[in-house]
Amino acid sequence: MYNATAELVREASNARIIRVRPDWPKRRRLGGQYGSLGLASAADPAKLVKRAYSVSSPMVDASGALIDDDEVDWLEFYFNRVAGAPDREGLTPKLFALKSGDRIFCGEKITGHCTLERVPRERDLLLVSTTTGEAAANAILAQHLAEGRPGMACSLVLGDAAWESLYRPEHAALQKAFPRARVVEVSADDAVTRTEAMLKAAFADAETSRRSFGFALAPTKTHFFLIGDPAMIGAPRKLGAWTYEDAAGGLLPVLAKAGFTPATRFKEGDIDHESYW
Ligand SMILES: Cc1cc2nc3c(=O)[nH]c(=O)nc-3n(C[C@H](O)[C@H](O)[C@H](O)COP(=O)(O)OP(=O)(O)OC[C@H]3O[C@@H](n4cnc5c(N)ncnc54)[C@H](O)[C@@H]3O)c2cc1C
Repeated sequence: MYNATAELVREASNARIIRVRPDWPKRRRLGGQYGSLGLASAADPAKLVKRAYSVSSPMVDASGALIDDDEVDWLEFYFNRVAGAPDREGLTPKLFALKSGDRIFCGEKITGHCTLERVPRERDLLLVSTTTGEAAANAILAQHLAEGRPGMACSLVLGDAAWESLYRPEHAALQKAFPRARVVEVSADDAVTRTEAMLKAAFADAETSRRSFGFALAPTKTHFFLIGDPAMIGAPRKLGAWTYEDAAGGLLPVLAKAGFTPATRFKEGDIDHESYW
């Protein structure tokens, strides 16, 4: 049932970073893709409780050198402690009980379209994630830098007033080594509203945009990634095969008003998003 060994890298009361060394050979993946983790169900130990997790990346080592994914034998994951739904067995309480050396299930299939695959190389990137959505943002940012893409990149990490990214040491090393990469934590109970205000101010004035993000935001020049909490993303909710309900808030409507278009499976655009629930 288990096919990997876990190692605890860093933790706080509300989040953890683990590395998983699979028994199977790692394959090439794209930054922003996700796999799955699983642990035995308490109700039926022969079954796994499995969930999707973005493959994260520490991006750089302490000296600021990019970590080459081909050179390491682990996959990194970054997850929240969540209360869970009352009607199904949660995985996160089990993930928080893991100790280094414990065995775990790690799905071999790593997939997902919220990646740089269709993003032109010269685009500047604005990655907006909520809390552990930073996992996918870090992996995309690491790929952007590893490929030597010429665009600037800014990662906004949103959380409530108490939120502190567990990747702060890497943020510092990354920004020292790569002046064209920036990480900004927006820790406030109204982090999404504040981000909306930052974006609107940036759309109105290129100099404000450069101060906030390092570059001027413009359709076809900037590519957005929105990752994590669906309330931050603000994607229309699917009701039926062809019917959708517009979101009450979130960033997608703000970006659409400024002329940015979501990418779909069939059409290129300026925004990719991945909702975690
Ligand atoms: C493509 C994809 C990638 C994902 N990657 C990550 C990741 O890298 N890190 C991560 O922490 N989670 C990630 N998730 C969410 C993850 O799959 C689990 O849902 C989450 O860890 C909670 O698991 P659970 O079994 O304890 O509770 P679940 O029964 O899965 O969820 C219960 C409720 O908790 C809330 N919730 C779910 N995920 C989160 C979260 N991350 N933060 C706060 N509240 C949440 C939702 O309201 C959800 O209905 C991802 C989900 C998807 C679909």
